Amino acid sequence: MERLTDKFGRPITDLRIAITDRCNYKCVYCRTGNQGAQYAELPFADYARMARVFAGLGIEKVRITGGEPLLRRGVVGFVEELAGLRTLDDRPLDLAITTNGHLLAELAQPLKDAGLRRVTVSMDAVEPERFARITRVSNGFHAVLAGIRASQKAGLDPVKVNCVLLRGFNDDQIVEFGKFARDQGVVVRFIEFMPLEEERVWSPEIVVTLAEVLERMRRFRPLVEIPHARSETARRYTFDDGVGEIGIIAPVSQPFCGHCSRVRVTSDGKIRTCLFSLFDHDLHEVMRRGGADEDMAAYIGQVIAHKEARHHIGEPGFEKPSRSMVHIGG
Ligand code: SAM
Repeated sequence: MERLTDKFGRPITDLRIAITDRCNYKCVYCRTGNQGAQYAELPFADYARMARVFAGLGIEKVRITGGEPLLRRGVVGFVEELAGLRTLDDRPLDLAITTNGHLLAELAQPLKDAGLRRVTVSMDAVEPERFARITRVSNGFHAVLAGIRASQKAGLDPVKVNCVLLRGFNDDQIVEFGKFARDQGVVVRFIEFMPLEEERVWSPEIVVTLAEVLERMRRFRPLVEIPHARSETARRYTFDDGVGEIGIIAPVSQPFCGHCSRVRVTSDGKIRTCLFSLFDHDLHEVMRRGGADEDMAAYIGQVIAHKEARHHIGEPGFEKPSRSMVHIGG
């Protein structure tokens, strides 16, 4: 079987599957007050079949996302099913999940036992009041902390914490996050805010760039860059004493599209070749029509071949995709 490669020669090895677009948080930069589903959710067996076909085409990592993936009952069984799949080199898939962490305290150990390797928890402030202002949920902070600790105890490794910085909202938390990374033994990843929100709040001025994070963090303690793999999205740093790791994902100020290895499947079974794609590709429709695995593989191959070269954030004529992050799968 041929490995997935797009027309620019980029190998596609990283699949993200959204299993719902519902969420129990209403982060100000992500969604409106509406928490319900906008797009369909498929049975887990359908996502598992898609993952199996993708694995047969060279996918090596699968990240489960959403919406909030832990809202879906049966997510542990789904992980167990994915853990049974093999890469083309006959290795287990590298399985990860991105979650807001609210329900993680209970689920970390069962997820680990089912075969999950690593977890990324989204947390945009390290102080309860600020956290509540961003998530618009009053009781979340301690639940998320408990989720992080339960993940560490379960042996999920690494435990990463994603933080989207917004000027005027949480940019004063940068150094606090540096301390948090050092004290808690988590890898903190700052992500530049992208124009993928439901409400139109994005502007270049609100984005806190990689350069700014580095400058502010260096005033706290000197940083040492850690070499990173070409396809890795984050620039990684430790502090001068080797304690703690932070990373910065800078899709806006320093796009990494040239090394993109990602493809996404939305909760309703559509392929998205770029976060900023203007079109979906209906893989589930191929299944509904009774397509065999080979038909799905052929369809995926055609779609991937036409993956976009890059995004156009900040350029004249930039067109925001019709689906926001929460309906694509971050
Ligand atoms: N509910 C899960 C969570 O909170 O991690 C998974 C889905 S969420 C959409 C995935 C990640 O996307 C989160 O870390 C979130 O902060 C990030 N995100 C959402 N909207 C974003 C945006 N416009 N720009 C950058 N990151 C965004």
